[in-house]
Amino acid sequence: MSTDPTAARLPVAGRAAMFEAIKRLVLADRRAFAVVVVLYVLAAGAGAALPVMLGEVIDGIGTGWTASRVDLVCGAIVACVVLQLVLLRTGRRLGYRLGERAAARLRESFIDRVLRLPLGTVERAGTGDLATRTAGDVGAVAELLRKTAPEVAVAMIEGTVIIVAAFVVNWKLGLLFLVGMPMLVFAARRYLRLASPVFLSERAAMSEIAETTTASAAGSQTVAAYRMQAERGEAGYARAATHMDRLRGIIRLQTWFFPATDLTFLTPAVVVTVVGGLWYLDGAVTVGEVVAVAMLTLRLDGPVFRSMLSLSEFQMGGAAMARVEGVHLMPDEVRDAVPSGAEVRLDDVTFGYGDGPDVLHGLSLHPRRGERLVVVGPSGAGKSTIARLIAGIDRPRAGSVTLGGAPVADVPLEVLRRKVVLVTQEHYIFTASLRENLNLAAPEAGDEALLGALAAVDARWAADLPEGLDTMLGEEHHRLNLAEAQQLALARVILADPDVVILDEATAGIDPGSAGNVEASLAAALDGRTVIAIAHQLQAAESADRIAVVQDGRIVEEGSHAELLESGGAYASLWGAWKGVAV
Ligand code: ATP
Repeated sequence: MSTDPTAARLPVAGRAAMFEAIKRLVLADRRAFAVVVVLYVLAAGAGAALPVMLGEVIDGIGTGWTASRVDLVCGAIVACVVLQLVLLRTGRRLGYRLGERAAARLRESFIDRVLRLPLGTVERAGTGDLATRTAGDVGAVAELLRKTAPEVAVAMIEGTVIIVAAFVVNWKLGLLFLVGMPMLVFAARRYLRLASPVFLSERAAMSEIAETTTASAAGSQTVAAYRMQAERGEAGYARAATHMDRLRGIIRLQTWFFPATDLTFLTPAVVVTVVGGLWYLDGAVTVGEVVAVAMLTLRLDGPVFRSMLSLSEFQMGGAAMARVEGVHLMPDEVRDAVPSGAEVRLDDVTFGYGDGPDVLHGLSLHPRRGERLVVVGPSGAGKSTIARLIAGIDRPRAGSVTLGGAPVADVPLEVLRRKVVLVTQEHYIFTASLRENLNLAAPEAGDEALLGALAAVDARWAADLPEGLDTMLGEEHHRLNLAEAQQLALARVILADPDVVILDEATAGIDPGSAGNVEASLAAALDGRTVIAIAHQLQAAESADRIAVVQDGRIVEEGSHAELLESGGAYASLWGAWKGVAV
């Protein structure tokens, strides 16, 4: 078994994959994207026209413009200011909407992909990593697309138009304008290069915190039972300290970067004014041109500063997007096998978790159609592993696990879930009404069917609920105890009506007195289906059609209760031991 907890982390997208993702998002809304870009360009043009026209007025007054001509140009300047405001506002509104739509599209494709991820992969990746990507990263990317990206786009377009305008006024002054550029490009490139890994590692450190917290919360009973609070607390602090360290790295980076960007637009302003003044004295440029270009230089302040401020958010969003897009890099499982029938067979199955040792060794098991097969054996023998293989969660290393002749792990999940249902001790109650919680398994089932399923698992508590099937369940509402939650999960199985039901200690949370009732009712409700029940309590085995005894990853005995007792083997001694304890 791999001991490196980060070994199975979900992938992070590289540049090419990110570029593809952005292209996909832009192309999906290309018309709106084009309109927004045109609006931004026009707004920036209207903004840049202001100093240019002011320069014209200054030169015009010197060359004898009439008062009405000056008024006309000043009127045009005012019109440009208004036009810029209107265009920018419209562009921003459309830009934000565009970003919102892109964020929604990205979120949908992320959720869609995550739901199609093989369960085994999700388990190996750790729920914390996936939870951070689902909650934190998707939110950060949405913020990027909705707010930061339009801001940076406006700033970039505005900056470019200002530079072009400076060259249009006077190309020589335009060249002076560019003196700050190498510095800006150098600082921005260096920042981007250094910031990218820093932000990525910050996000990863955040995931580690989530992973530790989720694991400690989920396993709180174990933590308490083994008095591991201090140990878990230290693990949490250690990860928080790592995160803090990464945040310090971000701040260190920004403390040299932001002052450097100030210089990039202040330097050309000084150079244009001083050198432009000297050139004016030589008659090479006009006062109006120097004033216009100097003003354009100062106007650069806005877009440069805004885009630099956004750059860190951009980086943060970029790092988040790399992680969100990463899930799309998971190789798609090709599941295209078509089962013909619902017969389950395990033939010569060898299996181990991750790169750990084999836990099943050439195991064969052939549950018959419609029989109730109970699998028993000591703890760690491999019973739950058999259940996972039949449910198609894991693939055998060697041998085959088939459903209707098709390898189970190759049957499309939507087909498999209709035919095979695995119920374990872990159930999830959604914050929704009892009806909705049941309808998950069979959306069309009416109230009568829902009540029938509850009755079949002996869930008498349902009749006492204040609002019947409309009662809201969940942490904030009516809370079900463990036994009730298990009965709800079993009622879902009856509604789902699969051909094969695997019950992995599915009645373990129900008190032994009632468990017998539940099992008897359930057996009646599932009559005719293949039921593979994994049992600790041998009581369940007594009434089984057949019993399979697993030891050390092998089936060591098979037969009815009476046959196995008579043969006096492993089952007989398990039974004896259990009876001894139970009586
Ligand atoms: P129990 O009755 O205690 O649930 P079991 O018979 O169901 O035991 P399995 O849970 O199938 O046994 O475990 C079989 C072997 O596989 C054990 O040695 C166990 O430690 C190992 N194992 C189970 N799950 C994992 C996992 N996710 N990763 C690595 N090893 C695992």
